[in-house]
Amino acid sequence: MSKSTSVYIPQESAQQLGNLFIVAAPSGAGKSTLIKEVLNKPTHTQAMQLSVSHTTRAPRKGEQNGVEYHFVDHATFTGMIEQDAFYEYAEVFGNYYGTSKSAISDKLQQGIDVFLDIDWQGARQVKLQNPTVIGIFILPPSIQTLQTRLSGRGQDSDQVIAKRMAAAQSEMSHYNEFDFVIVNDNLAVAHKEFEAIISAQRLSLENQQIRYDSLFASLLAQG
Ligand code: 5GP
Repeated sequence: MSKSTSVYIPQESAQQLGNLFIVAAPSGAGKSTLIKEVLNKPTHTQAMQLSVSHTTRAPRKGEQNGVEYHFVDHATFTGMIEQDAFYEYAEVFGNYYGTSKSAISDKLQQGIDVFLDIDWQGARQVKLQNPTVIGIFILPPSIQTLQTRLSGRGQDSDQVIAKRMAAAQSEMSHYNEFDFVIVNDNLAVAHKEFEAIISAQRLSLENQQIRYDSLFASLLAQG
């Protein structure tokens, strides 16, 4: 005779806000490739999205308005600053870049994890406004690798590459302001490490308490 047991079926009981991640790196560390690989996985496309920034820089070959960036002129960007439309913005390599408030708030409310691909200046501004943000910094395995990656891109002039190498040193000096650091020597390994950080954040006590509040209450009520 089978014994009748009462089985609790865990249900995701409360709407959880999405997590906000910042991903920063010197140019050439492999950040864009890594973000694209992780976010474009079919199992992830619903649950995580990359915020599309506004920039005054000209589109590179193959870049599309509204996909990599919202490409705007200087007057439009300045107008958005005056209207307080940005969550953060900064000048990087002589151009303005900014995260609009509308690019992230709705998604977080819907429980979507949002990734900001921004520089250390923007990261600081976001962290001040939202201390729960998770910062991930990606480093290259060596200066030589960084140089090879920047030269191999073939999209920028030597002058721009030299400028970016100098800027890389400055960007990298801020790695210790972030919560997690990935050294991108092998893309497959870096990919796994990136996913591990996302999983860890989703499993944090704070997130799990929201997701499983009725389960936790029922487990404790049994005692
Ligand atoms: P790129 O011109 O190579 O696409 O980007 C140059 C730098 O600007 C990168 O370090 C990138 O992370 C940063 N960046 C892109 N969008 C934003 C943004 O919205 N805010 C800030 N602060 N930096 C950004």
